[in-house]
Amino acid sequence: MIELGIPMLLIVMDGLGDRPCRELGGITPLQAAYRPNMNSLIRRGLGGLMHSVSAGMTTGSDTSHLSLLGYDPVRFYSGRGPFEAMGLGLRLSGGDLAFRANFATADSEGIVLDRRAGRLDEDASELADALCMEMDGLSFQVKAGVEHRAALVVKGDGLSDRITDTDPHSSGEKVKEVRALDKEALFTAEVLNKYLAEARSILGKHQFNLRRRENGKMPANELLLRGAGLTPKLQPFREKYGFNGACIAGIPMVKGIGSLLGMKVLEVEGATGTVNSNFRNKMDSAVEEMRNSQFVIVNIKGTDAAGHDGNAILKKRVIERFDQALEPIMDLDVTVCITGDHSTPCDFREHSGDPLPLLMSSPGSRRDGAKFFDEISCMNGSLRLGSGDILQYMRQLSGNDEKYGA
Ligand code: ZN
Ligand code: ZN
Repeated sequence: MIELGIPMLLIVMDGLGDRPCRELGGITPLQAAYRPNMNSLIRRGLGGLMHSVSAGMTTGSDTSHLSLLGYDPVRFYSGRGPFEAMGLGLRLSGGDLAFRANFATADSEGIVLDRRAGRLDEDASELADALCMEMDGLSFQVKAGVEHRAALVVKGDGLSDRITDTDPHSSGEKVKEVRALDKEALFTAEVLNKYLAEARSILGKHQFNLRRRENGKMPANELLLRGAGLTPKLQPFREKYGFNGACIAGIPMVKGIGSLLGMKVLEVEGATGTVNSNFRNKMDSAVEEMRNSQFVIVNIKGTDAAGHDGNAILKKRVIERFDQALEPIMDLDVTVCITGDHSTPCDFREHSGDPLPLLMSSPGSRRDGAKFFDEISCMNGSLRLGSGDILQYMRQLSGNDEKYGA
């Protein structure tokens, strides 16, 4: 066990990085925001830029958060299936098999009439619940997402993701059987085909679909699977670092990653993962939790949501409201790092590979003269880190690391 120093707080403002915005006269939302607390923190410490995973790489929130927590996604990431399932609120463990799924409409011959069941306009949770079951020593869990989207997770021993999709990827074609791509996957393919036959029979006579047929709507009578992925088996956070970690987030995917790593996942009232989330409650919880956990990660999703909406003024407002919520941490004896997980420029409406502004503030740390926390000012700061180095850098500032060598 290592000897512990001061607690560490990593604040990830999702999609924080931006480019000059037309709506803001050519500056970024962070530059435009009134942000006295962020500027005060950077003046007490170090500023700079952070590359998400590696320079110029455009990352998703899943790969970037793994990297920020010190787990190299290039080694461990196994495709979107498990992370999308976590995004729908399913809790996964290493070795679980996960799929992205669609509720679809098929005819009696198994020909897909609509891959999206007429873009389901009602909550399909009751269908998903009906498809949760135990079979052949495995547990099957289905969770409905928005419209026709869903996820399937299979838990148990001996599973493989070396199998094919059942989704034919276009209408007018037959639903495919799951096929094994190697010998080790034969059991998985067999049990999935059995499960899907059972699922078809349940969906075909479910009240939900009888109702839809009566109303002249397409029944959601087929669960199409794609993107099989085995959940990576990752070393638990506490075992890797020698101290406790906690996770505060509104969005299920980040909570799912925390849970996968065995971190404490806090439920915070009003933490919605939207632009209206209760930031103050999240920061109060972080302060409280730092009594128990040496490391706390907080995800703020509103900045990314505003970026995807192309709403620079909203993104600026989210940043301003979050800056106010930093009040309770301003005078604590802790190391604070604020950055993002990737850029989501408003004029682009998607993630980009632009580096993120970064600040590290820790009692007694060096000061590099950085004055403002934003994408442009941070170019003059001293730090140039990859996301995979963030936690290590925080550890050394906080006295939570071990000497490498004698
Ligand atoms: Zn993100
Ligand atoms: Zn995003």
